[in-house]
Amino acid sequence: MNNQSALDQALIPALAERKAANLYRARHLLESPQTPNVIVDGKNYLAFCSNDYLGLANHPDVISAFKNAANNFGIGSGASHLVAGHSQEHHALEEEIAAFTGRDRALLFSTGYMANLGAITALVGQGDAVFEDRLNHASLLDGGLLSGARFQRFLHNDLDNLQTRLQKTEANRKLIVVDGVFSMDGDCAPLPELAALAQKNNAWLMVDDAHGFGCLGKNGGGSAEHFGLTQNELPILMGTLGKAFGTFGAFIAGSETLIETLIQFARPYIYTTAMPPAIAAATRVSLRLVQTESWRREHLQQLITHFREGAERLGLQLTNSTTPIQPIIVGDEVKTLAISAALAERGILIVAIRPPTVAAGSSRLRITFSAEHTLTQVDDLLSALADIFFQWSLSPLTLSKSMERPPID
Ligand SMILES: *Cc1c(COP(=O)(O)O)cnc(C)c1O
Repeated sequence: MNNQSALDQALIPALAERKAANLYRARHLLESPQTPNVIVDGKNYLAFCSNDYLGLANHPDVISAFKNAANNFGIGSGASHLVAGHSQEHHALEEEIAAFTGRDRALLFSTGYMANLGAITALVGQGDAVFEDRLNHASLLDGGLLSGARFQRFLHNDLDNLQTRLQKTEANRKLIVVDGVFSMDGDCAPLPELAALAQKNNAWLMVDDAHGFGCLGKNGGGSAEHFGLTQNELPILMGTLGKAFGTFGAFIAGSETLIETLIQFARPYIYTTAMPPAIAAATRVSLRLVQTESWRREHLQQLITHFREGAERLGLQLTNSTTPIQPIIVGDEVKTLAISAALAERGILIVAIRPPTVAAGSSRLRITFSAEHTLTQVDDLLSALADIFFQWSLSPLTLSKSMERPPID
């Protein structure tokens, strides 16, 4: 009757359901580097939605380090780290990250997703228990589920709820896992209290600092530096390199024994091609810039304060965040898409974040700042928001026909 295969026929209902619920996602074409001024689908936008918090993704020194290393080492690493792909650039970066984080050793992973899957599954399994904050990143939740350990989610940043769960468990190994900075809300985990709770209950603490590393701490050492947590207090530290560091990849840092355990048992480490050595070489330059150009963190903090003061004057509801992640929680998917579309009409790019990335009814505009933004650009954002929310209070925005495929999704 039609030319749909049996496979397509089986897949179509779930897609239709997503569309009907306004949860369908579409990709858009980025035709420029990742900077505040981007070209997307042929149009210029002022963007507030990258994770390039320090503005290093397009830094000339990082780019030339990449080019030089490509000339010296080629592009592909050609093998996994354990076979023949562990280049001297990877090794040097691992040593520099270990020194920077004050840990015995660091181990590079090809992505943060893999670092989380690899570490959690190597550390816990059947007979053990893993305790995760409800708002943890998907890769941490997936790692916990894949591990085969008893998987428990505790209420967001709720130490009492966690303590109750820790008391009840009879598991052998107990692993507590949290985001250092929560990716969709921008708030921080209470790490000193979590470290104390872990010690009291003979549990291990793992922190995913994807959004803190580079941004927090006097030298950009992230949540661990910000709270002054040693390797003993925070034994499993994960960070990513594709956000504030502006490159790609991730690491786990900790004791000699932890790192050797991951090399032997973390399957997403063992069974994958090592990242290109030129990425490691570029990241070594990023690491130097993160430490030496502290003005990037200072300017970022200025932008955040400026935005929060302006948004509060407009009566916008902000989260309890002091980081570059400053979401405006709208709630309803359709409204969130409509605001994102109205911003796009004014030349501002902010993605609507919807379930399942966030909980049902908590769709939001996830606004993020970069050290490359100017105060004037933050003012432009504030006046566009003022404009839209003012209009909206006169006549509620609805999703018009032209917005059915949201310009930015
Ligand atoms: C982005 C992110 C990851 C995944 O890192 P990739 O290197 O992009 O795979 C993991 N955890 C958190 C909290 C993240 O925001």
